[in-house]
Amino acid sequence: MQTNTPANYDVIIVGAGPAGLCFARELAGTGLKIAVIEKLSEKVLANPPQDGRDIALTHLSEKILRELDIWPRIPKSEISLLKEAKILNGASPYVLHFDCRETGKDTLGFMVSNHLIRKAAYETLADFSNIDLMTKVEVTSTATNSTSGIVRLANGKTLECSLVVAADSRFSTIRRNQGIPASMHDFSRVAIVCQMEHEKPHNETAFECFYYGQTLAILPLPGNKSSIIITLPAGASEEVLNMEKSMFNKDIQQRFENRLGKMKLIGKRYSYPLVAVYANKFVTTRFALIGDAAVGMHPVTAHGFNLGLRSAHTLADEIKTALNIGEDIGSSEMLERYQSKHRRISLPLYLATNAIVDLYTTEILPARIVRDTMLRLGNHVLPVKRAIMNLLTESHL
Ligand SMILES: Cc1cc2nc3c(=O)[nH]c(=O)nc-3n(C[C@H](O)[C@H](O)[C@H](O)COP(=O)(O)OP(=O)(O)OC[C@H]3O[C@@H](n4cnc5c(N)ncnc54)[C@H](O)[C@@H]3O)c2cc1C
Repeated sequence: MQTNTPANYDVIIVGAGPAGLCFARELAGTGLKIAVIEKLSEKVLANPPQDGRDIALTHLSEKILRELDIWPRIPKSEISLLKEAKILNGASPYVLHFDCRETGKDTLGFMVSNHLIRKAAYETLADFSNIDLMTKVEVTSTATNSTSGIVRLANGKTLECSLVVAADSRFSTIRRNQGIPASMHDFSRVAIVCQMEHEKPHNETAFECFYYGQTLAILPLPGNKSSIIITLPAGASEEVLNMEKSMFNKDIQQRFENRLGKMKLIGKRYSYPLVAVYANKFVTTRFALIGDAAVGMHPVTAHGFNLGLRSAHTLADEIKTALNIGEDIGSSEMLERYQSKHRRISLPLYLATNAIVDLYTTEILPARIVRDTMLRLGNHVLPVKRAIMNLLTESHL
């Protein structure tokens, strides 16, 4: 006889993006019964397509991914190093320069394509029988109370658990469903991303160029290849996105003032609306937000996934502590500890990133003067420069 009793889990994770998958992997060894629910198919998770996002990872992220057995599954030939970073302001010849040699490490960070992180994270879950991955099914709603969480699926099934964790992107419907408001900062800009081959070597140097009305980031990939991010006012992006290939090649080459010689588009161009999101709280009764669902960053400071991974790591750590001391894994005390730690780390980065973007996309004269001054301060005031480099190269929590 069939019963209507909902399947029971300890933790249900909504969304198998990089944050949801890494969080599942963090908890895999605990023996907790975990469900990960994803609307994409398993075929896509096993072989995610390129999405144009090449992710700059900090040393801490590399360490966490290594501990999770995700890093060794990313082909070495697909990981590139970021040895130097240069920041340019408009036509000013002045350059803010970061060099890994000043940090005592052999790189400021690492570049890995988003789809490879997702693929490697997915692969690590295969060995754990306590993880149920349910694909091609959407979570339609969640409800939580002091004793349990209920997750409803589009196929009519209902699941029950001790803790619901939403990792369903910066435009999280589950966050809204749980009644958690979020502040959104719409930059009215679009990021166009792609990969390009070029004539000259990039010497493992990243460039961030704040030209007037647009920004251009060039990030080194293996070989003579770079990841390109152009941010433009939303109205101007269609033209660049649909520009004929040879014109696009010339356009980027000129925008970058021929520093890399001839440039050639590889593959497709992708576009992302630039909206930063910060949830007003990260937890509520038996419920937590991680990844972009908690904090969706503007990509200019390359912190989005780094913070998302950190949120997954911090929450998993608190759950493991709860298990060790015999505490309920969905208790408000445990959730509060996670929230307070992740807000302390993420809020200053979120506010600083938005302030940088606003400053560097404002064209009025005082803003131009301030940003030129900031670049010079960044170069000459050692504590400022060191703080930025420490953020990239620190490998402890
Ligand atoms: C152009 C660009 C460049 C970037 N560069 C960097 C960088 O250099 N460094 C860095 O650290 N970060 C970077 N980021 C940020 C990084 O890509 C994101 O932080 C990261 O991908 C977010 O992962 P996530 O798992 O939180 O969310 P997502 O990747 O959005 O995944 C959410 C998942 O949830 C699923 N889902 C949603 N709703 C439901 C539902 N109701 N039911 C079931 N499944 C659902 C979706 O299908 C999806 O698979 C960049 C972002 C952009 C746009």
